[in-house]
Amino acid sequence: MDKIQMKTPLVEMDGDEMTRVLWKMIKEELILPFVDLKTEYYDLGLPHRDETNDQVTVDSALAAKKYGVAVKCATITPNVQRMSEYHLHEMWKSPNATIRAMLDGTVFRAPILIDAIKPVVRFWKKPITIARHAYGDIYKNVEIRTNEGGTCELIFTGKSGQKIQQTVQTLEGPGVFQGMHNKESSIRSFAHACFQYALDTRQDVWFAAKDTISKVYDGAFKEIMAEVFEEYRARFEAAGIAYFYTLIDDAVARVIRSQGGFIWACKNYDGDVMSDMVSTAFGSLAMMTSVLVSPEGVYEYEAAHGTVTRHYYRYLKGEETSTNPIATIFAWTGALKKRGELDDLSQLIHFGKSLEEACMAVLNKGMMTKDLVNLAEGIETTAVNSKEFIQAVRDELTAIL
Ligand code: NAP
Ligand code: MG
Repeated sequence: MDKIQMKTPLVEMDGDEMTRVLWKMIKEELILPFVDLKTEYYDLGLPHRDETNDQVTVDSALAAKKYGVAVKCATITPNVQRMSEYHLHEMWKSPNATIRAMLDGTVFRAPILIDAIKPVVRFWKKPITIARHAYGDIYKNVEIRTNEGGTCELIFTGKSGQKIQQTVQTLEGPGVFQGMHNKESSIRSFAHACFQYALDTRQDVWFAAKDTISKVYDGAFKEIMAEVFEEYRARFEAAGIAYFYTLIDDAVARVIRSQGGFIWACKNYDGDVMSDMVSTAFGSLAMMTSVLVSPEGVYEYEAAHGTVTRHYYRYLKGEETSTNPIATIFAWTGALKKRGELDDLSQLIHFGKSLEEACMAVLNKGMMTKDLVNLAEGIETTAVNSKEFIQAVRDELTAIL
């Protein structure tokens, strides 16, 4: 069989620990034998980030902007313990945060479903994709805790010199205060990313806030989303999809009663909380895909989970681990399919779909990593290690192609 040809390279962002090990296995066993893979390689593994003073992360994000599609392995976000473990010069920022800030992107997370793993919510038949607005609100707040009574004020000083002043509250005794912000430009980008992604995946968009209580702040989110939607209305109607706004508490109730199959656009905090609820209710973090979409249409695919450190330490002792490679494989298939779409390469799209089918076929036969074995119902399961799982996927893929 001739290898499938590519036109434009994918931006490949390698990473750390167990996922770096899986990354190599996935490439060698599931991609390189079938695809004449073109990538521009960036090593975001922590040692190389440290050697380059994190320049490699910036370069990889610039490359993603240039080529349009990237695939990223999970990476360590350094903390105090990692400083000594890796002898770092500095506590580098999270690569995901750096890349997200440079692309001004929105993260979409969707679970991969198999019949044998039933969502905790029995109504759910299709995946629910969470789109989290990842800028501002309480994540960039300022806070004060006082030890006496007094008055807290909110003052805005405009570039023009205008002043807007409001009393937050006058308290008789000690209390807590919080100030937070968001940017119109960021909310607008978020709206574009959500509506664009909805068109790409032909799904409705739900957005919710609490504008009855927060008339100005949440009210602005509601207004800007509605305004941007007008640019998409005709294309939504043509695609047979809809935009729906409701209050956040009503949205939560409706999500639980729904069958799934839509994008739930969330404000920053709602997205933080709800993505953990939705992913757990669907089964496992190891079955959750994640894609960063920029308003200019740059796509960066990754797994939602981290570098699976506990498994890596066992791997370093020479043990075979049963780490689930599904989300990382789907990051590759997502990127290859998108590259195929943009470059009009039907064979590459077909390859991506076939590799996903092969994964599903192996899972549906009950062959799975340990994290899934306990969740599966109604089928005979066999727990395998990562190597055995990937080998089974390769056999299945060879048969499909
Ligand atoms: P994690 O790597 O997602 O792992 C947490 C636990 O979840 C694992 O110990 C494992 O549980 C289970 N798990 C996650 N993925 C799995 C998989 N593919 N197969 C089987 N089990 C899986 O999160 P963490 O331990 O909090 O973070 C580890 C490192 O990853 C940190 O340095 C963090 O900075 C980084 N991180 C990176 C990203 C990213 O690059 N996007 C995201 C999150 C975290 P058991 O041990 O019980 O089997
Ligand atoms: Mg969270």
